[in-house]
Amino acid sequence: MSGAAIRFDGQVAVFDARDDDAPCYHCLFGEGDDFEETRCAIMGVFAPLTGVVGALQAMEATKLLIGAGETLNGRLLLLDAKKSEWRTVRVKKDPACGICSSS
Ligand SMILES: [Zn+2]
Repeated sequence: MSGAAIRFDGQVAVFDARDDDAPCYHCLFGEGDDFEETRCAIMGVFAPLTGVVGALQAMEATKLLIGAGETLNGRLLLLDAKKSEWRTVRVKKDPACGICSSS
């Protein structure tokens, strides 16, 4: 379960390791560094957006636990809080991903 919010942009994704075809976090975001944390500290975040992202994470986690519906596995849900617009982007497994190929 991944959730992030910065300024007016939010995103939520699910990485279900039980699904062999599912991408992992590294497939989507690559090598992690301090860039995102630095940006958050400097740029700030629209406070209600963190609540929306957190509620979505709780919803997706609960769906996974009870096996209900279709989760965000393999998709990235993006929220533009300024426009109040949602977008979903399909995420494929990266064949060159070092994390996926090592498991
Ligand atoms: Zn991967």
